Amino acid sequence: METPSRSLATEAVHAGREDLAALGLHAAPLDLSTTYPSPDSRGEAARIDEFAATGAPLEGPQVYGRLGNPTVARFEQALARLEGTESAVAFASGMAALSACLLVRGSLGLRHVVAVRPLYGCSDHLLDGGLLGTEVTWTDPAGVADALRPDTGLVLVETPANPTLAETDLRAVAYSCGSVPLLADNTFATPVLQRPAEHGARLVLHSATKYLGGHGDVMGGVVACDEELAGALRRIRFATGGVLHPLAGYLLLRGLSTLPVRVRAQSASAAELARRLAGHPAVTRVRYPKLGGAMVAFEVRGDPHAVIAAVRLITPAVSLGSVDTLIQHPGSISHRIVDPADRRSGGIGERLLRMSVGLEDVDDLWADLSAALDAGADTRAETDTRAKSAAGADGGAVSAVPQGPPRG
Ligand code: PLP
Repeated sequence: METPSRSLATEAVHAGREDLAALGLHAAPLDLSTTYPSPDSRGEAARIDEFAATGAPLEGPQVYGRLGNPTVARFEQALARLEGTESAVAFASGMAALSACLLVRGSLGLRHVVAVRPLYGCSDHLLDGGLLGTEVTWTDPAGVADALRPDTGLVLVETPANPTLAETDLRAVAYSCGSVPLLADNTFATPVLQRPAEHGARLVLHSATKYLGGHGDVMGGVVACDEELAGALRRIRFATGGVLHPLAGYLLLRGLSTLPVRVRAQSASAAELARRLAGHPAVTRVRYPKLGGAMVAFEVRGDPHAVIAAVRLITPAVSLGSVDTLIQHPGSISHRIVDPADRRSGGIGERLLRMSVGLEDVDDLWADLSAALDAGADTRAETDTRAKSAAGADGGAVSAVPQGPPRG
């Protein structure tokens, strides 16, 4: 693993762009070509043989968009530098990135995956439904070592996890994994707050759609890892086609330059909102990670749907990591596809709301949120009656304090 010699803020602005001045450029060039002139066919045959054998990026001129793109390569170099890994491989979305990781390991006959709930709803669904021919064992972090089998290809955790913000001790889990690669989804923390490769994760996955892009206008995924795994991921990407569009690569590279500033500012507002939420009478529990970050999850006493319907400044929308604040009800949207019993066992109750805090003024956000909570509380009598007949959908004790230490 490479240790960057420059600070993260400097790398965020310069990584992947070091050659621009020599090229007489300031902004990174956007290359939208799908194909490139190949006058030397014999030479191309040798280069394609080399790619098929190793998955190493092609040396020299480009050949075809699915083999590699120079704008996307800049984003990959920059993200690898920020995560402190040798390489990174970009995909069309976070789900395409996760699929490629499963296919890389599954293609070696290692089809068993050990995973810790909660995960993002569609990641859970992909594993639980065995859609790519994998078989999953769900466990808690302490159970990882016992869940390993000879055919285990991957251990998967999110920390802080979507949507409960539960935290996992990556170093302890990496130790339990032995020689099985640990994949850490770092979408919520970003390399600004946490660099999982430093704690033993061999694959660091992002939905780049979120904080890396940062403006809610680009979809992408990326895996930061060592060059051996990167080669395998590039071969899968070439064969299955889940490439990142060059314009998305351009926007993601641009997004990285403001990532540290955005994440720090958004995290400061999120911490303040978590504090204020903990004192609001309509809030029964606040979940805010010890690590920090710009995501807050909280449970309400009244009707969570009424809170969603009542926000005016905050956007009621799924996804996260944008400059504007978003709120959603995981049980209805991001985690709807997960079986209700599994949602409950993962701590995703019916009263849980997840908020991605943006760059707006914190007092303006609080004015909107507290008014929406008051509106939600007005419907309390009605929803309390319904909740009772829903056989303890939420279960467990609640407390109006920020979340405690990381849960084992
Ligand atoms: N991982 C996490 C933690 C997510 O929140 C998401 C999407 O919300 C994904 C992966 C999937 O990313 P995408 O929507 O870019 O496919």
